[in-house]
Amino acid sequence: MNTFGPPKLVLVRGEGAHVWDEDGTEYVDLLGGIAVNALGHAHPALVTAVTEQMQTLGHVSNFFATGPQVRLAERLIGLCSPDSGRRDGRVFLANSGSEANEAALKATRRTGRTKLVSAADSFHGRTMGSLALTSKAAYREPFEPLPGDVTFVPYGDAAALAAAVDDETAAVVLEPLQGEAGVNVPPPGYLAEARRVTREHGALLWLDEVQTGIGRTGRWTAHDPSLEPDLVTFAKGLAGGYPIGACVGLGEAGHLLGPGNHGTTFGGNPVASAAALAVLDTIEAEDLRAHATAVGARLRDGLDHPHVAEVRGEGLLIGISLDAEVAPAAVAAAQDAGFIINATGPDRVRLAPPLVLTEADAESFLAAWPAILDVAYEAGS
Ligand SMILES: *Cc1c(COP(=O)(O)O)cnc(C)c1O
Repeated sequence: MNTFGPPKLVLVRGEGAHVWDEDGTEYVDLLGGIAVNALGHAHPALVTAVTEQMQTLGHVSNFFATGPQVRLAERLIGLCSPDSGRRDGRVFLANSGSEANEAALKATRRTGRTKLVSAADSFHGRTMGSLALTSKAAYREPFEPLPGDVTFVPYGDAAALAAAVDDETAAVVLEPLQGEAGVNVPPPGYLAEARRVTREHGALLWLDEVQTGIGRTGRWTAHDPSLEPDLVTFAKGLAGGYPIGACVGLGEAGHLLGPGNHGTTFGGNPVASAAALAVLDTIEAEDLRAHATAVGARLRDGLDHPHVAEVRGEGLLIGISLDAEVAPAAVAAAQDAGFIINATGPDRVRLAPPLVLTEADAESFLAAWPAILDVAYEAGS
């Protein structure tokens, strides 16, 4: 179905942060399948893990457990725990970010409350429940009525959040950085204030780390686990391109959903779980969080230009605001120059490259950037 409009290219092969189209033209991939290809393309550790798991046990049903799904759940609880000690937690494994969020949304209903607070410019997915939490009118309006009782507050405004939460609020759902909006970074202390307010009213704090989690910002989670959120959802980068989603319930929130409350046929599939374990192991073994921090800082520095109004982000999740509505033209100019980047709005460009992006690839993009902008502004004027 034509839900995406015309494709920009037909890609046939990838290696590291590089992809090739059907004509053999090579591109540096600075989008990484929208923050998904954490290990780049065709990473041997991921290929081996998926191949070996498929050769051993490819799928069972959720009537049975498998080693990889149990090990993955344990790892995710560990990533959501502060240094001071491992938290009690339970995990629901799914196949996408939207599905991870659907599980979290259903968990919030089991509090006995239905009111939810989300943020303006948020993105939580396109299924009916996750769409109900997504603010963008153009995505929502064709599908109303959506599951209700959602209030949207300006992102980053702690006072507005505090005013919106009361004793009937089931949960506050926030992205630690808003990726789809073009990488909005909240002021320091915003998430801590969200934790304080939710705790005061007995509401859950649910952090959507679908885009920001798993090393993307240079940390396992963009939020500090010592904040002790109740629900954390992951997906995009978690299995490096193999479909997966995870809803982590911490403390009491891990017990909200019980037998019969939710299900999935494919979620927790051993191949997806093995892929995620390979991603987590490789991020650790190759020190990719530190690498993302360093290469991301270099990119943000080097993107400065008279037409660049602002550069935002952390690690390898980077948003660029241009001083005119030429972001789509910049994407086209970049593609012609051999680079894949993404427009999140008329004047907003996003970079979310593989965490394995080399310094040389980053430098080649920075060297091409002024000419890309020249072409985009020429085309746009
Ligand atoms: C991409 C995204 C989702 C939706 O994930 P899908 O896998 O596309 O369903 C949800 N939340 C955030 C923050 C995202 O970036």
